[in-house]
Amino acid sequence: MQEVLDTITVPVYAAALGALWIIEGLMPAFEGWREARGQRARHLLLAAINGGVGAAMALAVAGVIVVCERSGFGLLRWMPVHPAFSFVIAFLVLDLTQYAMHIAAHKMPLLWRLHSVHHNATRMEATAAMRFHTIEVCFTCLAPIPVIALFGFNLPQVLLYHLVLMPVAMFHHADLRMPPALDRWIRWVIVTPRMHWIHHSRWQPETDSNYSAVLSIWDRLFGTMRSRRHAESVDFGLDGFTDEDTETLRGWFLSPFGERKAGLGEKPPSHLLVPDEPEADASAAERDAARHAAPASATMRG
Ligand SMILES: [Zn+2]
Repeated sequence: MQEVLDTITVPVYAAALGALWIIEGLMPAFEGWREARGQRARHLLLAAINGGVGAAMALAVAGVIVVCERSGFGLLRWMPVHPAFSFVIAFLVLDLTQYAMHIAAHKMPLLWRLHSVHHNATRMEATAAMRFHTIEVCFTCLAPIPVIALFGFNLPQVLLYHLVLMPVAMFHHADLRMPPALDRWIRWVIVTPRMHWIHHSRWQPETDSNYSAVLSIWDRLFGTMRSRRHAESVDFGLDGFTDEDTETLRGWFLSPFGERKAGLGEKPPSHLLVPDEPEADASAAERDAARHAAPASATMRG
């Protein structure tokens, strides 16, 4: 199975990207999709660099998995779990780990500096899913190692999760004019464009919401889900960055290390915050009240 997953991963990524490009071209949600070719090319170049670095990091992950296998270490090896069920457990645990790492990337100042490269994109489209600082890629590859070791996940389980993760990430970053009702239905299972666009809002309460990577259940479960009726009106990006920071490879690599005084976005007009999921918005309103009561933001901007 490992050989199959190894063989099909890159073709599946390419097919998902190709399909999304076709759909984005036919029904873009935002203006200027065709004009954004330059950004897409730069995102792909960054993805190639990160892919090489990520492959080296994957060797470290694979090494830990082999050591655990040889020593019989890991919860799934100590408990009588059906092989199929162990795949489900692995998928859920790895997706929850991804959710936790994403929150850490927003709440820990050093990680936020790196993660801001992903968030200072001023337009959403499928390749934005590949826009990460190379050092953050190293972190996201290596940070799950203790979890993988503790549970004793094998290589096929980890590969299968990543086979699903990337296409879903490209989908929820996509510039896709999908009917809101369809988006809402799909959102019950996986993260959708309208859900993730909100995460890319310039306004911090929205930036610090909707952290899930594949399954949307984590945001529902932990109260970080946020919605707005007109998700396509979100103002993407972060304040305090120059065009060079946000549009060039050099800017993506260097901007985390400069001096930044990025301000928080202004609160959008209240009619844009009308929820399409009353329960989710009620909990978001409570969190906002708590956040505004705090003397200082827990999240450093840039
Ligand atoms: Zn984020």
